[in-house]
Amino acid sequence: MSGVSLKGIVKRYGALEVVHGIDLEIAPKEFVVLVGPSGCGKSTTLRMIAGLEEISDGTCRIGDRVVNRVAPKDRDVAMVFQNYALYPHLSVADNIAFGLRIRRTPKAEIASSVEEVAGILGLTAYLDRRPADLSGGQRQRVAMGRAIVRHPEVFLFDEPLSNLDAKLRTQMRAEIKRLHKRLGVTSVYVTHDQVEAMTLADRIVVMRDGRIEQIGTPMELFNNPVNTFVAGFIGSPP
Ligand code: ADP
Ligand code: MG
Repeated sequence: MSGVSLKGIVKRYGALEVVHGIDLEIAPKEFVVLVGPSGCGKSTTLRMIAGLEEISDGTCRIGDRVVNRVAPKDRDVAMVFQNYALYPHLSVADNIAFGLRIRRTPKAEIASSVEEVAGILGLTAYLDRRPADLSGGQRQRVAMGRAIVRHPEVFLFDEPLSNLDAKLRTQMRAEIKRLHKRLGVTSVYVTHDQVEAMTLADRIVVMRDGRIEQIGTPMELFNNPVNTFVAGFIGSPP
C-alpha cells in the first residue's frame, strides 16, 4: 500500500491562489480527514491528488512516484463523490464493473471481481437492479464498489455522505470504517461533519483559507487545539 506525500502544494486559478503551499505526509494505510469551512481548499487539494486539477507548484507523490504529470487513470487512486453519478441505464453489476471495463480487463476476471466486491458491500442480491430501484444507501454502496473493484492504492472521498439522511449517514460511516479495517487502503476523506471526522480519522487536518491550521489525532486536536478556530471544528472525542 502506498502513502501520499504533498510538498509545497499550490493551486492557482489565473492570478487567484486558493491553496498556498500545503505539506502533508500520509502514511500507507492511514485514514486522514480534511476538515474546514466551505471554500478553504479541501476539494481542490483532493482533486490535485486525484489528478483532476493541475498542481500549480509543489510535488505530489503517491508511494515513491511523483505524479504531478500522471493522468488520473494512471495514478492508482479511486475517488468517491457526494454526487456519485451512477449510470442509470446500467445494472448494479455493470456500474461496479465500469472502472474495469475501460481498462480492458478480461471478462471472467470482471465477473469474479464484481462478485467479490458485491459480497463485501452486501449488494449480491441487487446486482441486476438499476440504480433507480435502489435506496440511497445502496446507491452509495455501489459507488464505493466502483472504487473498490479497482484495488486502488489510495481512496479519495469528497463528502461522500452529505446527501444522505442522518440515520443512513451513521450507518454508512460505520460501513466505511469497517471497509477501511478490512482493506487497509490509504484514505483521504473530506467532510464538514465533525462526527465523521472524529470517528473515521487516524489524523485530522484542519484547513483554513488554503492553509493547514493544525494536524493531529482526534484526541490531540480535542485536547490541544492551537486556537479557537480549530477547537470550533473538533467535536466530542470518539
Ligand atoms: P472546499 O472544498 O473546502 O469547500 P474548494 O477546494 O472547492 O473548497 O475551493 C477553494 C477555493 O477555490 C474557493 O474559494 C473556490 O471558490 C475556489 N475555486 C474552486 N474552483 C475554482 C475554479 N475552477 N476557478 C476559480 N476558483 C475556484
Ligand atoms: Mg468541497
